[in-house]
Amino acid sequence: MKTAIYVRVSTNEQAEEGYSIDEQIDKLKKFCEVKDWQVANIYKDPGFTGSNIDRPGLKKLINDVENKKIETVLVYKLDRLSRSQKDTLFLIEDVFGINNTNFVSLNENFDTSTPFGKAMIGILAVFAQLEREQIKERMTMGKIGRAKAGKAMSWHWAPFGYTHKDDSYEVVDLEAQIVKQIFHDYLSGISITKLRDKMNDEGHIGKDIAWSYRTIRQTLDNPTYAGYTKYKDQIFPGNHEAIVSKEVYDEVQKQLEIRQKEAYKKNNNPRPFQAKYLVSGLVRCGHCGAALGLHQYAKKKDGTRTKIYKCHSRTGKKKNVTMVKADNCPSCDYPKEELENVVLSEIEKIRINPQLIQKSSHSAQEIDDTPLIKRLEELDRKLEKLVSLYLDETLSLEMLNDKKELIQKEKTAIEGKLNKTNKQKPELKISEAADILKNLKGSILKLDYEKQKIIVRKLIKQITLKDDEMVIQWRFAV
Ligand SMILES: [Zn+2]
Repeated sequence: MKTAIYVRVSTNEQAEEGYSIDEQIDKLKKFCEVKDWQVANIYKDPGFTGSNIDRPGLKKLINDVENKKIETVLVYKLDRLSRSQKDTLFLIEDVFGINNTNFVSLNENFDTSTPFGKAMIGILAVFAQLEREQIKERMTMGKIGRAKAGKAMSWHWAPFGYTHKDDSYEVVDLEAQIVKQIFHDYLSGISITKLRDKMNDEGHIGKDIAWSYRTIRQTLDNPTYAGYTKYKDQIFPGNHEAIVSKEVYDEVQKQLEIRQKEAYKKNNNPRPFQAKYLVSGLVRCGHCGAALGLHQYAKKKDGTRTKIYKCHSRTGKKKNVTMVKADNCPSCDYPKEELENVVLSEIEKIRINPQLIQKSSHSAQEIDDTPLIKRLEELDRKLEKLVSLYLDETLSLEMLNDKKELIQKEKTAIEGKLNKTNKQKPELKISEAADILKNLKGSILKLDYEKQKIIVRKLIKQITLKDDEMVIQWRFAV
């Protein structure tokens, strides 16, 4: 058995009895003799701490293990390998394990080639997880403790208007004046975009780089300026001087919300009067991708003109070359009344049968994430329970691993689903689309042309026409 002996001692530990490098080597060599193992190499890390794996001896050992030079790694005590459960587990499983190298720790009688040793790895995993959680917890406690004590939350930068002083912030007068101006200008009705331009036109005084929409927005809702400290969603009274009054700050928060809602409404009501015809601007040619425009033919004998929607690739050459997408587009003409009626009928269909909205939206959106998140939490609890069953010896390691795998699979699937639903958001909620249609209180075909135009644009993002095929892309679909 080609055995690697690994020994480590930190500077602090040198003084401690039984921890000297030579003593460790001595005992391990004797052990190999008893076992009739051949010592392939001795890897030493004198004066290195076990809190990380950045050690020259260990690196060389890992390298030799990966090059299959070693069959067994032997240490005097488990903490010689690492003081971190997480790193110990990593070395045992992801370095030694996958290279079919056994790991033996003399002091604990820990040997990964035995069933007991294998079970120990499972236990190590539990403690490694615990260790990770404790570190996270400690960091969180640290931050929330700072916030509660009213201390400054960031060491690296103070918000514009302040500078760090001891454990808190100190007002920078010039910058504070500008912050005040931003709050008061905003309250006087100036939009964030205009405010940004105004500040930058004045030369973004006190600031190295120009203001952006985001930095103005962040300034307006930063509670630090009203004298608070914030951690996540919790706000605590700070130890620093406020730059704006609480009243001004609160009023600005109200305005931010109101104006955001207004902007949202505006964006979801796309300028309905701009287009002259029902579907102009919405239709695309399925052959070449160009827009379709409305054209009128010469007067007929009765004085009327035939109006058609026609691909710009076929008409734009004289008028507007930039709209041409193909040289010889084979698309056909669409008589205005006919095309518009088909589109309106499609809307009428979903108005009469609102269930079709759901269907036309392709995949289910507006999925309520709550059940999925609840299921995730449930699975985590299940995992914890399994581990404790295992520790109580009610469950074998094999069973634990089998069940763990099943749970992990489901977790991965749910997490994937959550990511997907978060990414895909339709422009219009299904419920909003349903409301629009309900408010018509009758057939869309009976409305006047201007009103039809508004509804069409509220609901439809794009219509693609290819010969006699029509595909409608609804705003409520993803
Ligand atoms: Zn075309």
